[in-house]
Amino acid sequence: MSLHPMYARPRDLEQASELLASLSSGAVIIAGGQEIMPYINYGVMMPDVYVDIGGIDALRGVSAETDEVSIGPLTVHRDIQNIEEIVETLPLLAYAAKQIGGGMQVHNRGTIGGNIVAMHPLYDVAPALLALEAKVELLSEKGSQRMLLSELQDLSNHGLGTSSILTKILVKPMSPTTLWSYYKLKNSAGAYGSANAAVVIQLDGENLKSIRVAIGAAAEKVVVVSENLDGYLGGPYTSEVGLAIQKTCSDAIVEPLSDQQGDGVWRKAMAGVAARRATEMALGKLINSSSKGQEV
Ligand SMILES: Cc1cc2nc3c(=O)[nH]c(=O)nc-3n(C[C@H](O)[C@H](O)[C@H](O)COP(=O)(O)OP(=O)(O)OC[C@H]3O[C@@H](n4cnc5c(N)ncnc54)[C@H](O)[C@@H]3O)c2cc1C
Repeated sequence: MSLHPMYARPRDLEQASELLASLSSGAVIIAGGQEIMPYINYGVMMPDVYVDIGGIDALRGVSAETDEVSIGPLTVHRDIQNIEEIVETLPLLAYAAKQIGGGMQVHNRGTIGGNIVAMHPLYDVAPALLALEAKVELLSEKGSQRMLLSELQDLSNHGLGTSSILTKILVKPMSPTTLWSYYKLKNSAGAYGSANAAVVIQLDGENLKSIRVAIGAAAEKVVVVSENLDGYLGGPYTSEVGLAIQKTCSDAIVEPLSDQQGDGVWRKAMAGVAARRATEMALGKLINSSSKGQEV
């Protein structure tokens, strides 16, 4: 801890990586600062060195290829909602980013990278990315490595410290036939969710072919429910199936959070409700768009 912390703004990834490797655990990476600055301002965190990665161009930009969308971690929430490549290829992610509270400052300064590295259970981005089976690329002293976002979730303890820089977020583009939804159950407009569910569904005719649900804000980590729903595949969605999905998703929350957003018993129950509602909203897209004659 230092009363006069140093500030460093590396020009490129090579410089950043060398710098981070040479620093102690008292250093901290700053992107948009929306997460970290309140901690610093209130004295919860007193770093020796701020490493501002905002000047590294390689961490910016979005590119959409046929099999992979690559998102620079410095992309701010506002751009995730509006950049055409993301809206067209990853509409679930663009929609989830729109549900972020905190107002204009958070949307214009907060980055997707900072959001997922912070890995706060109440945040909106990780459920969408986990439902889409996103991967991440990290750069450390040992070089560059890719891993599933679910693995990063296990690794990150509200930040990666100085061990690595998140350099890319990689997601397979959603197919035009993918049904999706994000449901955020919240107490008031702009609040954090009490139970958030992102869902991705594929149909085979009228039958469920695959379903993957990622539930946030209900447990310390986002809980992905996929294999446990296999029993409902192969048949059509009915209200009985909906209630069974609700129960399966609620049961998947083993240690529910209990905080200002609601107590644990209620959160566990609401996780299931959010999952069922998200599923029905996704299937409703099919009904609504077919009735308008649009492709789904
Ligand atoms: C009032 C308010 C309301 C909010 N409401 C919501 C909400 O409803 N939903 C929601 O999802 N979020 C919400 N947020 C959180 C906000 O989205 C995040 O704080 C923001 O996205 C973090 O991004 P940042 O760039 O500001 O991160 P920073 O504060 O700069 O960094 C966050 C963490 O990530 C690390 N980090 C950042 N980038 C990298 C990188 N490339 N590689 C390695 N480590 C990195 C930092 O060291 C730090 O540990 C809210 C925030 C505020 C202040």
